[in-house]
Amino acid sequence: MPDYNGVLIYGETGKCQLSPISRELLGVGRKLADVRNEQLSIVLIGNDSEACGQESITCGADKVFIISDAPTENYEGASHTAIMEKLCRETICPAILLFGHTLTGRDLAPRLAFRLKTGLVMDCVELDIEPASKKLVITKPVAGGNISATYKIKGDGIQIATVRSKAMEPLLQDDSRRGEIKTITAGVNDSVVKANVIERVVQESADDIENADIIIAGGRGVGSKEDFHSYLREGLAGVLGGAVAGTRAAVDEGLITEQCQVGLTGKIVGPGLYFAIALSGAIQHITGCIGSKNIVAINNDKNAQIFKFAKYGIVEDYKKILPPLTEKLKEVL
Ligand SMILES: Cc1cc2nc3c(=O)[nH]c(=O)nc-3n(C[C@H](O)[C@H](O)[C@H](O)COP(=O)(O)OP(=O)(O)OC[C@H]3O[C@@H](n4cnc5c(N)ncnc54)[C@H](O)[C@@H]3O)c2cc1C
Repeated sequence: MPDYNGVLIYGETGKCQLSPISRELLGVGRKLADVRNEQLSIVLIGNDSEACGQESITCGADKVFIISDAPTENYEGASHTAIMEKLCRETICPAILLFGHTLTGRDLAPRLAFRLKTGLVMDCVELDIEPASKKLVITKPVAGGNISATYKIKGDGIQIATVRSKAMEPLLQDDSRRGEIKTITAGVNDSVVKANVIERVVQESADDIENADIIIAGGRGVGSKEDFHSYLREGLAGVLGGAVAGTRAAVDEGLITEQCQVGLTGKIVGPGLYFAIALSGAIQHITGCIGSKNIVAINNDKNAQIFKFAKYGIVEDYKKILPPLTEKLKEVL
């Protein structure tokens, strides 16, 4: 068995920048590596890698590994699993490997854990190191956020976790930080690729809800696509500068696109402020937004489950509340 050492981040990028979750992972990774007295590394695969090397160092990394021979330009599950498996077994051999709990991390981390025959804990909100064993202590919400559970991964293999967006603080960027950028080949050829991108379709609405600090989420009770647009997007989201999201029922009814669905089968979000408008608060939805710092609910049913999770609640028809609220906010903001 290799001598596993150090903390490795799987970096995600976009528009020639590290994604916010990658900066947050570098923040917590720095803390874990310092406690273990080991190095913090990040692996970057794909188009933006060169541009993000130096940024990774200013955000906390000691070492940046840029993969120069990835068989596909963008994320592809089978080839990225093969690349990460090689890095974990042969090149970097980290003791701890962290992914964002993003669509990519949720796809890649389980595949890799299976290949490496090691444990994985997903959707974590706290990470620490146990002083005696130096093992990762992982905390995550379970039972719809009602219970906090703590895990340790058995065995001496790589400990893998996916981390919820906005659960960790990024470090302040420090341009004086020094580190090493290495361009390496993984030696994975394109025979492993199982899927090719045939066409790209830009969705009408593709709010970056995973990274938004304010989210206006609507449910089936919003009623129509037109009302979703005028009351939520142009109204409240327009004045607050927030992203617009919705429930699965809202997606099924065609009120909002699938990319904006929050929940068990949608995205996990953790904004500072989450408006839950005309949505019931089903556990499958709550699972995706329970990490929000403040939930404000508007629902005309006083028994709606969403009020159990909301910090502030208004029992009323949302159409009576949103226009005056939006006007008032325009005045004060
Ligand atoms: C395996 C599985 C996975 C799932 N994954 C997800 C998921 O990822 N995300 C998700 O969201 N759901 C998911 N669901 C579906 C989930 O169980 C609920 O059915 C869904 O969240 C309900 O959406 P809703 O609250 O918009 O609709 P409803 O349950 O129909 O609630 C509408 C609410 O709007 C209120 N309302 C109506 N009119 C007004 C008004 N004018 N003003 C104010 N309030 C009003 C009503 O009182 C009601 O509370 C999943 C279900 C399963 C089985």
